[in-house]
Amino acid sequence: MQKTRAIVATSDRTAEVQEKELRPLKPGEALLKMICCGVCHTDLHVKNADFGDVSGIVLGHEGIGEVVEIAEDVTSLKVGDRASVAWFFEGCGHCEYCTTGRETLCREVKNSGYTVDGGMSEYCIVTADYSVRVPEKLGSPEASSITCAGVTTYKAIKEAKLLPGEWILISGLGGLGNLALQYAKNVFNLKVIAVDINDGQLDFAKKHGADLLINPLNEDVAKVVQEKTGGAHAAVVTAVAKSAFNQSVDAIRAGGRVVAVGLPTESMDLSIPRLVLDGIIVVGSLVGTRQDLAEAFQAGAEGLVVPQCEVRPMEDINDIFEEMEEGTIRGRMVIDLRS
Ligand SMILES: [Zn+2]
Ligand SMILES: [Zn+2]
Repeated sequence: MQKTRAIVATSDRTAEVQEKELRPLKPGEALLKMICCGVCHTDLHVKNADFGDVSGIVLGHEGIGEVVEIAEDVTSLKVGDRASVAWFFEGCGHCEYCTTGRETLCREVKNSGYTVDGGMSEYCIVTADYSVRVPEKLGSPEASSITCAGVTTYKAIKEAKLLPGEWILISGLGGLGNLALQYAKNVFNLKVIAVDINDGQLDFAKKHGADLLINPLNEDVAKVVQEKTGGAHAAVVTAVAKSAFNQSVDAIRAGGRVVAVGLPTESMDLSIPRLVLDGIIVVGSLVGTRQDLAEAFQAGAEGLVVPQCEVRPMEDINDIFEEMEEGTIRGRMVIDLRS
């Protein structure tokens, strides 16, 4: 049986490079020889057993690999294609969510690097119809960042349902937020209000064309936004602080939407009169469908969105998790799986 070296979550809540056996393909599957896989905050949660103990699972849901083998019945991928290993690994294909363009909400969903072995491995088996092809012009590390952070923010902005020229507030300009900014400016043609407590992130946002910059430590977000724009038409909150959600509700105009992406463990405050009288809409957005990912890849291939990535070896995984916990990472760390 073929072997593969993989980054595995262990019962003592660390990650370990282990040798695993690779089973033969079943119908509908493809074998990817992995090129790289980004490291996401969700991997840190999985490794720490924050969502329950899944020790033994191969981590990773920002994987890009080259198809080296397909089962006989597969027609959606061919050998030589590059394709994704995303958090949305597979849906049931027949429930009310899967059949109405909301497949990420499928109750039978499988998630890479959590309920099934993920992409941090030399080889990874995927369900071919759920693995999205990467356009030729898009680099693999960049594609890996788009597989999770990119599609998540692209979808969140789509959920904001705005027209070109309207104001969007992006709260949190870190790994997710700086991609959200690029999608908002370069794909959706929106005006962007960048909100972050870190001036370094705001400088970065300014370089990427943010129209209004606010540091909540120095200014009242809602007051400035209402004064300068009449209220944002929507807000996308990638920050993991309850205060960011509350500020966003206060900063949008009547009829506006707050799209929640970040996952703080607290509850947000939401005044019911504000909700009713101002027709505020609050909506959660979870990663993206296969079609969303194909669109998010295409924007990357056209150079409209350029993820910032740094490629690191497999053995660095625990260092990367530490850096993540310390908050010292800028851009996306991507594991090289070809070594
Ligand atoms: Zn992720
Ligand atoms: Zn389903």
